[in-house]
Amino acid sequence: MDLKQIRQQLAKNNLKATRPRQAILEALAQASGWVTAKSLFDKLSGQEANIDFSTICRNLELLSSIGILCRVDRDSNGIFAYSLSEMDEHHHHLICRSCGKISPMEFCPLQQLNSTQTAGYSELECRFEIYGCCRDCQGKQGK
Ligand SMILES: [Zn+2]
Ligand SMILES: [Zn+2]
Ligand SMILES: [Zn+2]
Repeated sequence: MDLKQIRQQLAKNNLKATRPRQAILEALAQASGWVTAKSLFDKLSGQEANIDFSTICRNLELLSSIGILCRVDRDSNGIFAYSLSEMDEHHHHLICRSCGKISPMEFCPLQQLNSTQTAGYSELECRFEIYGCCRDCQGKQGK
């Protein structure tokens, strides 16, 4: 997702491109990988006078909820890593336990369910991650 698409997505959700939001998105674009709220805070607190940790966490959650960012529990320890979304469509991720590589997966288990199975719940949100050992790491193990 590039900055133009991000701006459109913000506008569609009636969100302003506030200074903290822009700073977070720019930092993520520069990082070109997955970052935690803590590492973003370490990076931005030196540059942005008015950004605190809770602002970063709140905006990361918000931007994830509207599909601008992807969020994964990379080490299954409840600490999320974030990146700019790799694709426009809603998707999930495969995570390598060994090297931490994260690959997008065009699949959503929620789309396979019907309203009876979800028991009439609304505003559904899915968290679905698959952990395994990637092809590169399998090769290393063999040697
Ligand atoms: Zn993703
Ligand atoms: Zn791996
Ligand atoms: Zn999903």
